Amino acid sequence: MYIYKNTKISIVQGDITKLKVDAIVNAANNRLLGGGGVDGAIHRAGGIEILEECRKIGGCPTGEARITTAGKMPSKYVIHTVGPIYRGAKNNEGELLYKAYFNSLKLAADYDIKTIAFPSISTGVYGYPIEEASEISTKAVMDFINENDILTEVIFVLFKEKDFEIYKRILDKILEMSK
Ligand code: ADP
Repeated sequence: MYIYKNTKISIVQGDITKLKVDAIVNAANNRLLGGGGVDGAIHRAGGIEILEECRKIGGCPTGEARITTAGKMPSKYVIHTVGPIYRGAKNNEGELLYKAYFNSLKLAADYDIKTIAFPSISTGVYGYPIEEASEISTKAVMDFINENDILTEVIFVLFKEKDFEIYKRILDKILEMSK
């Protein structure tokens, strides 16, 4: 576990749907109607009510975030955000990925969310290289913490061991370990 200002930052390898936090973040698509990867796992674990809420919301532009309840999962909320599809960093992908993380945190603040877990947005089917993506996600979280002293814990959940190792390397470089 790491510490930045008053916030714990952890990395966990596993399934984000199992976590008992105030909010888990979903790497959704623009239509918000479910899909593969973590999106599919969240809708399967949470149940139909999440999809019904998403239908009412009606979609989400890339880089923005929307919120629903978490259905049958142990967390309270799901924040659905849409990361960019990676096409060689020529189309503002870095800025859009940063916004996906930062806007998720801004929405979390509106709902008094203090503990939040992120998957590795855009690095699955959307093809974003995880080394670069992990630097962007960490920067977005640290920038948010610099501006808002409200989060107690941010967890990066990595599904694959290799992704966990990459995050660990980046966080070891950037953040202070807690005792
Ligand atoms: P995107 O379309 O944004 O790339 P994906 O769902 O394809 O989203 O992949 C994002 C990341 O989520 C990938 O690193 C993938 O390994 C991971 N992932 C898949 N299922 C889960 C899960 N149940 N919990 C956490 N992470 C997951």
